[in-house]
Amino acid sequence: MAKSLVEMAAEIIAAQASQSRMTPDEITEGLQKTYEALQRIQGREEGAPEPVTEKISKTAPSASIQRNKIICLGCEREFKQLSKRHLASHGLTPRSYKEKYGIPLATALTAKSLSAKRRRIAKERGLGEKLAQARKKRLRKK
Ligand SMILES: [Zn+2]
Repeated sequence: MAKSLVEMAAEIIAAQASQSRMTPDEITEGLQKTYEALQRIQGREEGAPEPVTEKISKTAPSASIQRNKIICLGCEREFKQLSKRHLASHGLTPRSYKEKYGIPLATALTAKSLSAKRRRIAKERGLGEKLAQARKKRLRKK
């Protein structure tokens, strides 16, 4: 089992006291300082902030685009649509984002429901145009 900080501090001071003559006050002060120093070191070990290297995303690229949301693989935030502006905050463009995470370039960076809706609108619009063209043709034939 690991020694407690108090035990460690006491050992350090005992070792020092055996080498040099220390007054009880010096021992108390030394003990306190050593204990504080050990506490600082331990705090640094345990509470050490994560290295500021890039956060590795927990989300698989293939799972990042979901029905009602898209998860940004750079920061794990959820969006309806990954905007160019947001990607720029990671220093990426839609293209480099896809390349970086291995997402096919043809994939829309939007929630699936949103891209489906867009496709439907586009289809309806296309259908409307075809109808209009067909009507024109018919008119010309008359
Ligand atoms: Zn992000």
